[in-house]
Amino acid sequence: MSEDMDADADAEALEPIPADEELETVAELAKRRGFFFPASRAYGGVAGFYTYGPEGAALKRNVEDAWRDLFVTQEGHMEISAPDVMPEPVFEASGHLDGFDDMIIECPECGTNHRADHLVEDATRIEEAESLPIPEVEALIAEYDLDCTTCGASLTDVPVEEFNLMFETNIGPGSSQPGYLRPETAQGIFVEFPQLKQYARNQLPFGVAQVGTAWRNEISPRRALVRVREFTQAELEHFVDPDEDEPPLHRVADVELTLYPADEQEADDGGEASEASRTSSDSSDGKYVTCTVQEAVDENIVASDWVAYYLGLARDWYERVGVDMDRFRYRQHLSGELAHYAADCWDAEAELGGDWVEITGFAYRSDYDLSKHGAHSDEEFTLFKQYDEPKTVERATVDPDMSVLGPEFGGDAGAVQEALNDLVERDPDAFDGEVVEVEADGESYEVDVEHTNFAREEVTESGEHITPHVVEPSFGIGRIVYTVLTHAYDRDLVDGEERAFLDLPPEVAPTTVGVFPLMDKDGLGERAREVEADLRQAGFAVAYDDSGNIGRRYRRQDEVGTPYCVTVDYESLEDDTVTVRERDSTEQARVDIEELPVTLTALRTGSTDIADL
Ligand code: AMP
Repeated sequence: MSEDMDADADAEALEPIPADEELETVAELAKRRGFFFPASRAYGGVAGFYTYGPEGAALKRNVEDAWRDLFVTQEGHMEISAPDVMPEPVFEASGHLDGFDDMIIECPECGTNHRADHLVEDATRIEEAESLPIPEVEALIAEYDLDCTTCGASLTDVPVEEFNLMFETNIGPGSSQPGYLRPETAQGIFVEFPQLKQYARNQLPFGVAQVGTAWRNEISPRRALVRVREFTQAELEHFVDPDEDEPPLHRVADVELTLYPADEQEADDGGEASEASRTSSDSSDGKYVTCTVQEAVDENIVASDWVAYYLGLARDWYERVGVDMDRFRYRQHLSGELAHYAADCWDAEAELGGDWVEITGFAYRSDYDLSKHGAHSDEEFTLFKQYDEPKTVERATVDPDMSVLGPEFGGDAGAVQEALNDLVERDPDAFDGEVVEVEADGESYEVDVEHTNFAREEVTESGEHITPHVVEPSFGIGRIVYTVLTHAYDRDLVDGEERAFLDLPPEVAPTTVGVFPLMDKDGLGERAREVEADLRQAGFAVAYDDSGNIGRRYRRQDEVGTPYCVTVDYESLEDDTVTVRERDSTEQARVDIEELPVTLTALRTGSTDIADL
């Protein structure tokens, strides 16, 4: 073994990087080594858009693949890919057109737009100002005498307004058909439900996943990939029968969760502890509830079994892709944050540079989305549920006598007939008197019940139409990539010299193996190129490097998280073996070239360890 290769045999841990330097250090590395950087710099750039460089695009793809592996392949759900642009009626129905707003305040002096709730959060100990009504946010701005963070002008008495976050566009020439870039991938799944239920052969439960771009015209993008205007979401919409379907809780029953329930947050006394909770160490001071998924359900800490199931499933997935579990928690939505239709919501949060950031939302959305689309469109957003045994039920019917209604109501007779048909389904008891009142086109009409031919009859039904409920885990891939990168960043001393490295799990590391010739002479380069080609053929992500000394090449791979490096040396030419060196321990082992793909696979999947070789 050469001295060079021997040089990094011992690694000694260093103190972690201070929280206030962490994100800056990661941003510098991200740009220098090609993970991500602000987009369109040649034209001055525009806030909220990032380009993933070669390392970042590979890391992102690996995280997405790990997500698919669990939420599509292992869980047995379908994956679809719907368009980014959808017509206006979709967002009228979903409620985004009216309600997908953030609070904006424009500085009267310099014109900078700020997110009013963020100004309040930054200046006070309030953590979720988004859930406060506008007048309260205005009052807080006045109370704390908040100024524009750009020019310093006072913002007291400046009105806070609602700003819709959707990007609008025109579909086709002209402006007759407005469209919007989807603000979440979920709508592409809900809208296609009438078609998707057929692929599921009309059987509940079934899940539909989508990994794709979401667009939000954020008022003030910030913190690199945390708040951007274009980002990737991985969402699963799990359609279930609320009366019958239960999650396979036993599969995650023993998974340990770190939970931050709403009552604990509220008990944190106006935010004193929320300030404290900005450090990850307080997970031990009693604010968090640490329990298994089963306990969380039994003690009703998590109200929905389905949500609890996904918290358990996702917890192990985050660990798998490299989120540091000491810097991770599940936080329950406070009552003011909850959407009115949502029974219980929890966010997965990761600590980044001293702040907690939502990386995934878990929501029990009831039948809200499908009911909305059902009401707004002509398609059926229900599913026919067959009974085990046919049931005999009483059904009320009408058969309005149009020879009477026609002359009586003239041009409105058709509308009255339709209103009677609707009413008998909703409220048959309304026909109990002599006269029934119906509303049609905003007008009220009285009809003699005898002319409606009202009747009650017994019918045998084989099933009923139900609107499925939806459980939704919604992952923000960019924030997870950023978390994984930040949590992986580490430094140590290797033979007295400081090195920076990313301890990324091999599954998500952009490159699995670096291949180096000890020197580019005496046929070492040619042999190393053969090793490289064989490894690529076997499906490994390989980086070839022959510049600088071996120590430097190791450092280059360490810094982008490559878990293994293979060096071809003079011994290789004699006995067809190479040195395999592991990133974190810097330990090395001699392996037959022929065995390399099998050995690297075993190392990568954890079925063997470098020390065992
Ligand atoms: P939401 O629909 O707001 O609950 O968002 C679901 C997930 O998408 C969040 O947990 C984030 O991970 C991600 N996300 C939301 N907004 C942004 C944004 N502006 N930039 C990056 N990721 C976002």
